[in-house]
Amino acid sequence: MTFSAEKQADILSDLLNCRRRDLPFPAGIEATWLEEGVLQLIPRQASAALVLSAGIHGNETAPVEMLAALLASLSSGQQPLNQALLLIFGNLPALRAGKRYLHSDMNRLFGGRHRQAMPGNESRRAARLEKVTSDFFQRADAAGVLPRYHLDMHTAIRGSRFPQFALIPSHHHDYQAEFYVLLDACDLDAVVQHTAPGGTFSHFVSETFRAQSCTLELGKALPFGSNTLSRFAATDLAIRALLAGTPLPTRTQPPMRFFTVAESIIKTSSSFRLNLDAAVENFTQLPAGYAIASENGKIWRVEDAAPWILFPNARVAPGLRAGLLLKPAAARFSS
Ligand SMILES: [Zn+2]
Repeated sequence: MTFSAEKQADILSDLLNCRRRDLPFPAGIEATWLEEGVLQLIPRQASAALVLSAGIHGNETAPVEMLAALLASLSSGQQPLNQALLLIFGNLPALRAGKRYLHSDMNRLFGGRHRQAMPGNESRRAARLEKVTSDFFQRADAAGVLPRYHLDMHTAIRGSRFPQFALIPSHHHDYQAEFYVLLDACDLDAVVQHTAPGGTFSHFVSETFRAQSCTLELGKALPFGSNTLSRFAATDLAIRALLAGTPLPTRTQPPMRFFTVAESIIKTSSSFRLNLDAAVENFTQLPAGYAIASENGKIWRVEDAAPWILFPNARVAPGLRAGLLLKPAAARFSS
């Protein structure tokens, strides 16, 4: 990667401590801080409008380090910019505290859900992020409507048989093959299609702005300084190629696997039980007929056609999702 490590560390520390400083950018790039940790970059010519977000969960630091490095090389001019870009460092107080969130899980509060949530850090920030994203797409379209993209980058709590994957929100508008080609170039292992709306940032951006938007899970959550950024090198290179308008890197991994959510296991009371060891990894294939969860006499059994478990978590609040069962889906582009 072509950036100065010291400059990246400086930028990261300034961001986290809300010392907004005026980073220089090459001539022709209009740079505007829309909020603490939210930077809009508009070049003279743009072929698309791209939102890159990280740190929506404050304990998921690797994508934050990746974006700080990208920001350093955009500032120095080493990274060309041919797209309107919104860089979002999601939850600064939680990032400083090394916690997923301070008051409530921000990635359940989008699409206006923050208005019903507990007042606090995350509900305030989710409302602001909705506003700045809307402002950005409006500004990016000043010279004509541009294709809209959004990658919301996370890392997962649990180990995973497919370590890097995309979650596509349920959507009514078209997702283009080009978007899946981009995900393919990120060397992702799998793509999961949601079938129900949710309060995630990617669902909000997809639905509200008809954007090609997804959540990216890039591996396990680790503290600042403990991440091996080379693991995400393919995603970093693909983003940099997209920004520069150069050809995407060539995939080096086996073909991506495609899945669709077949069943959401929703916990509704404290009597909910999940019959899974904590060590069971995401995308583990469970035996058909297995009683995976129970609650007040209801039993969820694994069906033969949908045996893959994703995000099992019995400790969610009643009303929330305690796991997803996945079935295979057709590839969304031809390679
Ligand atoms: Zn996350």
